[in-house]
Amino acid sequence: MKVMVMGAGVIGVTTAYCLLKDGHEVTVLERNAGAAEETSATNAGLIAPGHAYAWASPKAPAMLLKSLWRDDQALRFKPRLDPRLWRWSLSFLRQCTAARARANTLRKHRLCLYAQAAFNEMVAETGVAYDGENRGLLYLYRNARDFDQSVAKTAILSGGGQDLRAVDRDEIARIDPALAPVKDKLAGAIYCPTDASGDARLFTQGLAEACTGMGGRFLYGTAIRGIETEGDQVVRVATDRGEERAEVYVMALGCESPLLARRLGVRLPIYPVKGYSVTLPVEAGHSPPAIGGVDEGNLVAYARMGKRLRVTATAEFAGYDLAHKPADFRHMLAAARDLFPAGGQWDRPDYRACLRPMTPEGSPIFGLGAQRNLYYNVGHGHMGWTMACGAARITADLVAGRDTEIPIEGMTLR
Ligand SMILES: Cc1cc2nc3c(=O)[nH]c(=O)nc-3n(C[C@H](O)[C@H](O)[C@H](O)COP(=O)(O)OP(=O)(O)OC[C@H]3O[C@@H](n4cnc5c(N)ncnc54)[C@H](O)[C@@H]3O)c2cc1C
Repeated sequence: MKVMVMGAGVIGVTTAYCLLKDGHEVTVLERNAGAAEETSATNAGLIAPGHAYAWASPKAPAMLLKSLWRDDQALRFKPRLDPRLWRWSLSFLRQCTAARARANTLRKHRLCLYAQAAFNEMVAETGVAYDGENRGLLYLYRNARDFDQSVAKTAILSGGGQDLRAVDRDEIARIDPALAPVKDKLAGAIYCPTDASGDARLFTQGLAEACTGMGGRFLYGTAIRGIETEGDQVVRVATDRGEERAEVYVMALGCESPLLARRLGVRLPIYPVKGYSVTLPVEAGHSPPAIGGVDEGNLVAYARMGKRLRVTATAEFAGYDLAHKPADFRHMLAAARDLFPAGGQWDRPDYRACLRPMTPEGSPIFGLGAQRNLYYNVGHGHMGWTMACGAARITADLVAGRDTEIPIEGMTLR
């Protein structure tokens, strides 16, 4: 079949790859000059089924409330006259019960595990380079009470088959010697030996090249202006460079997806949640982290990517605004530098902001909406790099009319 994938982020490109493997004729439309130039460009790089907890939890409402008057929080919620924000926030609050947090976490976790296995197969099949690191991730706690609570919380994911180990500060220093000089600042950590990290942009760009080698057609510099329908079918996509047609369409437009879908009568419960990302050069004499992780008290994620150190933080509800200033990065840089004083070239930060396509539940949306030839692969939130290859397989299975290999209940529109 002729299939058109809209968007060349990590989700669109992995989907294109799975569709090409199934023998389809695939065209990818992307407004940027290359693949993975938006949210997939500068995420934290963590491939983290061991951290698949839903954001909507019984603790979240208090965090949101606190952010109304505090500016130094990792979570920044400022009320705006934006009906989409209010609708999304109410849905999010409805997910904050213990029972829903648990169900949402388990659903996300199942997808993340499936996706990690699919990712490893894709890497083996294509040999795509991505500055990967496969020795696990450390989730660090600076105070004993938070650490104890997190140890109790691991039961949810351990029940789902995840190997999670509570480790003390000496063990932390053994697992990542870069943390040895600061181990006394830590109360403990959860170590997930099967979690990993890598550069999503490098992977996506390499995979796009592999797709081209398989016959995939990438139309870069092509902005989608509208999706045209007749009856219950999409018939063409209007772009700034003319029309494109296919038999089947897949939407993988990240945070832009709800804006285009709305015009088709489909309401996608996705809101952009802004994050800040810094990349620093790592040079001779530096002691960067050996493996990635999260400073949980400060909600700062980090990973070494070859000769770079990536640090990300913050969840800000600021609509589609991508502006940033050095002050936005001050707290996260201070926290990361406190752990890795010689981790990289701290005076040469490359700043960026990007938007997580978040659903209230934290799980993505698959399958058909109002049109019978338009599939959605959207809303991967804060875990799209981890979920991408599994989400791509699920989408290819749906397009082919096959059963998906894992259940997708709770992740569809219909
Ligand atoms: C700060 C931060 C840290 C993160 N850390 C992690 C992490 O450690 N691990 C993890 O698993 N996930 C992480 N994520 C989440 C992950 O990065 C995202 O879920 C993922 O990148 C989403 O991919 P996507 O392809 O859906 O979106 P995008 O990468 O944004 O791709 C969408 C594509 O669609 C294109 N597009 C949009 N509109 C149009 C149009 N009209 N015409 C043509 N093209 C269009 C865009 O140009 C873009 O290339 C993080 C996110 C942030 C913000």
